[in-house]
Amino acid sequence: MSKVYWEKNIETLNRKELQKLQVERLKTTINQAANSDFYKKQFAENKITAESINSIEDIQKLPFTTKQDLRDNFPYGFRSVQQKECIRLHSSSGTTGTPTVIFHNQHDIASWANLTARSLFSAGVREEDVFQNICGYGLFTGGLGFQYGIERLGALSIPAGAGNSIRQIKLMQDYGTTAIHAIPSYLGHLHEVFESEGLDPKKDTKLRLMVIGAEPHTEDTRRRIEELYGVKAFNSFGLSEMNGPGVAFECEYQNGLHIWEDSYIVEIVDPKTLQPVADGEIGELVMTTLDRQAMPIIRYRTRDLTRIIPRDCSCGRTHRMLDRITGRSDDMFIIKGCNVFPMQIEGVLMKIPEVGNEYRINLETINKNDEVLVEVELQREEFRDEYDVLSKITKKITHDIRDEILVKPIVKLVEHGTIPKSEGKAVRLFDHRIKN
Ligand code: AMP
Ligand code: ZN
Repeated sequence: MSKVYWEKNIETLNRKELQKLQVERLKTTINQAANSDFYKKQFAENKITAESINSIEDIQKLPFTTKQDLRDNFPYGFRSVQQKECIRLHSSSGTTGTPTVIFHNQHDIASWANLTARSLFSAGVREEDVFQNICGYGLFTGGLGFQYGIERLGALSIPAGAGNSIRQIKLMQDYGTTAIHAIPSYLGHLHEVFESEGLDPKKDTKLRLMVIGAEPHTEDTRRRIEELYGVKAFNSFGLSEMNGPGVAFECEYQNGLHIWEDSYIVEIVDPKTLQPVADGEIGELVMTTLDRQAMPIIRYRTRDLTRIIPRDCSCGRTHRMLDRITGRSDDMFIIKGCNVFPMQIEGVLMKIPEVGNEYRINLETINKNDEVLVEVELQREEFRDEYDVLSKITKKITHDIRDEILVKPIVKLVEHGTIPKSEGKAVRLFDHRIKN
């Protein structure tokens, strides 16, 4: 029988044993983290030692770590080993300018590569595959993170990098690419380039699966991508603070994203009270590294909103599943007293067949009122100068968005290809409101 799991003993470990392993590793992590300036001080102030932990629930005795903590202690405050032991850093600049940085030693890079290999294997990637990694290499973790995972798994890797769609297509054809990884917002554009070259990825490539991640997207967006390419697209979740890709991943059954609980403790908390919510309820994802030496991070508030899927998966893996990320608490905007997540608007748009893949949400002050102005690209063939058709589509979009967010938007249809695309992760929300 062919191999089903990358590491059967870990992936199917019974929950009791898995929790025992987590408790052991949490103790080790606390000891290791105590070497850093940040945690040394924090543990002393809160009288925390590895002995404080006797069960998995005891993690709640530990304080949270925030992005601000990482910024305030930039660059070395969280490092738990000497500089000479570190072999790589990844850093994100964020929007406010102060960067955050994560250091890794040999052990960390090997462990991360293994997690990414395990993730890819669970989605069905095998040694025989030719895997083209279509995303930025460098400080962004999607490039090297997947690269090491593909190599560890043993598939043939094509480190294609981001952009240059004509070249991406040529690589796919020259080497018979069977699997790709890309961010979802790029794949609509890549498909258009296929079309403009007179090609169809369904017929003119050997593609058999895709991995998509790194940015929020709805189930309908995924379905559209799967239809465009005629193959399954598996959701990959990760964040630099927890390494990058390889944190949680969909297996072949696509029931949710298995979180690798031998390497991370996951908690879902109410973002206001910071108390745990019940399985199945949406809250903020909080994560703890369990297998990192150079820079362990404990109870990191990711700001990502999701829930634990309270079901078992048919694949037999015992690691629990996360639902797709519904948004980030810091993406939420308040307009006319209503709380809105951009993903709610994407959810509406991607259900309407005439709508293309690009949209932009602009928050504007018009005549002293705050308004949501949604620019929507239509499918290439839809943008005809027929007033009746366009006004019907506009009405439908306005109605459906209002139903979803309880605020009537101003909808502006724009011609296919006119919304500028950002390099890397899509930026779709622009707040131009005049603040009083
Ligand atoms: P970075 O550390 O810069 O790569 O960004 C990590 C963030 O990207 C996460 O905290 C999420 O907000 C987002 N992200 C990554 N993967 C996914 C995914 N599969 N679905 C939704 N959001 C994601
Ligand atoms: Zn599964």
